[in-house]
Amino acid sequence: MPENGIAQVVLDRPLDRLFDYRIPDDTDLRPGQRVRVPFGRGEAIGIVVALANQSDVPENKLREALPSPDPGPILTPTVLELLRFGARYYHHPLGEALLGALPPGLRRGHLVPTLTPEPLWRLTPAGHTALAEGQVRGRRQLAILRALPALGAALDRTTLSTTAALQITAKDLRQLETHGWLEQTRADPRAPAPPTSIDYTLTPEQEAAIAAVSPDDPRPMLLEGVTGSGKTEVYLRMAADAVARGRQVLFLIPEIALTPQLAGRIQQRFPGQVALLHSGLAEGERLRAWEAARQGERRIVVGTRSALFVPLPEPGLIIVDEEHDSAFKQQDGFRYSARDLAVKRGQLERTPVVLGSATPTLETLHAARQGRYTHVHLRTRPDGTQPPGVETIDTRVHSPDEGLTAPLLDAMQQTLAEGQQCFVLLNRRGFARVLTCEGCGWVADCPDCDAHLTVHAHDRRAICHLCGHQEPRAEHCPECGETLAHRGRGTQRLEQALARHFPQTPIIRLDRDSVRHKGALEAALDRIRQLDAAIVVGTQMLAKGHDFPRVGLVGVVDVDQGLFSVDLRATEHTLQLIVQAAGRAGRGDRGGRVLLQTGHPDHPLMRGLDAGNYPAMLEPLLAEREAAGLPPYGHLALVRVEAAEAAAAHRHAETIAGHLLATRHGDLRVLGPAPAPRHRVNRRFREQILLRAAERQALHRTLAQARHSWQTEDLPRGVRIAIDVDPVSLA
Ligand code: ADP
Ligand code: ZN
Ligand code: ZN
Repeated sequence: MPENGIAQVVLDRPLDRLFDYRIPDDTDLRPGQRVRVPFGRGEAIGIVVALANQSDVPENKLREALPSPDPGPILTPTVLELLRFGARYYHHPLGEALLGALPPGLRRGHLVPTLTPEPLWRLTPAGHTALAEGQVRGRRQLAILRALPALGAALDRTTLSTTAALQITAKDLRQLETHGWLEQTRADPRAPAPPTSIDYTLTPEQEAAIAAVSPDDPRPMLLEGVTGSGKTEVYLRMAADAVARGRQVLFLIPEIALTPQLAGRIQQRFPGQVALLHSGLAEGERLRAWEAARQGERRIVVGTRSALFVPLPEPGLIIVDEEHDSAFKQQDGFRYSARDLAVKRGQLERTPVVLGSATPTLETLHAARQGRYTHVHLRTRPDGTQPPGVETIDTRVHSPDEGLTAPLLDAMQQTLAEGQQCFVLLNRRGFARVLTCEGCGWVADCPDCDAHLTVHAHDRRAICHLCGHQEPRAEHCPECGETLAHRGRGTQRLEQALARHFPQTPIIRLDRDSVRHKGALEAALDRIRQLDAAIVVGTQMLAKGHDFPRVGLVGVVDVDQGLFSVDLRATEHTLQLIVQAAGRAGRGDRGGRVLLQTGHPDHPLMRGLDAGNYPAMLEPLLAEREAAGLPPYGHLALVRVEAAEAAAAHRHAETIAGHLLATRHGDLRVLGPAPAPRHRVNRRFREQILLRAAERQALHRTLAQARHSWQTEDLPRGVRIAIDVDPVSLA
């Protein structure tokens, strides 16, 4: 056997093992390279992860690899290392993690595309006039021209499609060119960022933040800045510096569909240098963007979670915007956190990592306080406005009618009369319902855990999802005797109720249902910007990064549902939501108000509400977490067991728990199994086991060993086991 004559290959299968193949003579295979191999009776596409001199497979059984579709590795050594780390950390099969990181076409063995330079398009003076004078009739044409923000700004077709939320074809653009409304330009992808027309004087805080990024400090940076404090501007300058140093920038954002303007804003600063990567792209577009980043043709990669794994030849900076957003955590399959792996990637590639948010997670704040991250603040807004104060409305005094109290309605009336807009927010996060008394605010708790019991609509029992405790559902409040309710109300009903109170006022609803169609969100956002007095009702979607000038009031209808929900992070998410929502109000010169309806105005969390001082708000929560050994003071993992029958799910969960107990390290606690909050999904039943440990090592060693031992056992077909390390939600 020649030296390094064996390729160790992973395949896109839920298997932990590597497969050995002989490398044919005069073929060169290297780690990170795709390879086609015989597998069973067919063929498969794999990735070489290592080379070896010998194999445990007997010589005569060892099969030979087939030709690779690539001339060399398509993954850089650091991305390969990052994925190997990720697969270990999240206890997920390496093959699935690695192949899942490739664009779908490459996973199936397609050839890497040859890149052709893409033209940029900009508005001509004639196009500008046509737009201003309303000569453009066609809806598509109008959408395209409008997506080009200003005279002089040039965008490529992919960015245009994303900003316009339209699948724009080359034909569309040629038509507009024939009209004389659009023209093509080209940009040098490696040129330093051109001077921008937006020439602010940076605030001293912004200057300091930019100066604090240093390739010599290996620590990640937390950029904590109140909404509207100019974080995006700071990212753009940092990116420009990195590009000027000949480096590439990875810019991760939680979701592109909800903030289409951001992509346009970045592309405008770096014309022709941005590769956009998100799931809304057509497969071919995504593959070309990926390849352009991998070739170094595009210097800035803007993308959602999965863009983290794009190989970059000249990495220089990683930005994670809105680092608190749970969209960075993949919720099925390979359950990685793109934010946490971004920090790892920064270490591996020795590049600075900037995590930005107005409302950082407890984990990130904790790391900053411990000095593991540097901590930079933007405390003021460049325009001098302040996020509004937060007031509460006591629902025990003012009982809500269809969710709305009289003081909220009065405040809305007043705001609308001043020509301002009202945002009414319904926190629908977490479907689990708590059993609560609307009379005195009592909530049903588990006797053994710091957790509320939850009830399912059709069920007669109340259950604790941390330990499995169950009890018959109480009908009356043990404190005051009133009939108990479980909470839950939808945005549509709220919209109807508001329409009855304000029949003359335009009402816009924003939630997943109302923006399902392509372009619906942009249309709604446009309408909000154009209207004066109006009511916007919706879910947390309202609070995402949008910049609206006329929001005078933000009302949160049922803040308790989030603050006192069973789920681990519900409280944290609700506090973030309040601060983010408050950030929408008072952007104009008139200031704004935030009103929260609650049955617990005296609770420490409610008394501490101060949208201008988010970290202070978190203090009671941090104390709670510390006392309970929960993150960031302890580490969690969930093991979910799923089967077609409830009894089978439970039986196998008991078996898995047995393996975990048998291999238990350190102070690890095995809690459960208990039925998952969503016990039945798609006619399957789910049980879960929660692992908690003060030391991360104890958690990982136990999981690795227990997983190994349960994998050697023959579980019946149809039983599925999933591991979620650092879960965002226990639901
Ligand atoms: P964030 O990302 O923190 O919400 P942005 O970067 O979007 O904030 O900035 C908020 C607004 O302030 C934007 O309209 C932006 O153009 C403007 N802005 C940012 N920095 C400055 C500055 N130094 N001077 C004036 N305006 C600024
Ligand atoms: Zn009561
Ligand atoms: Zn319990």
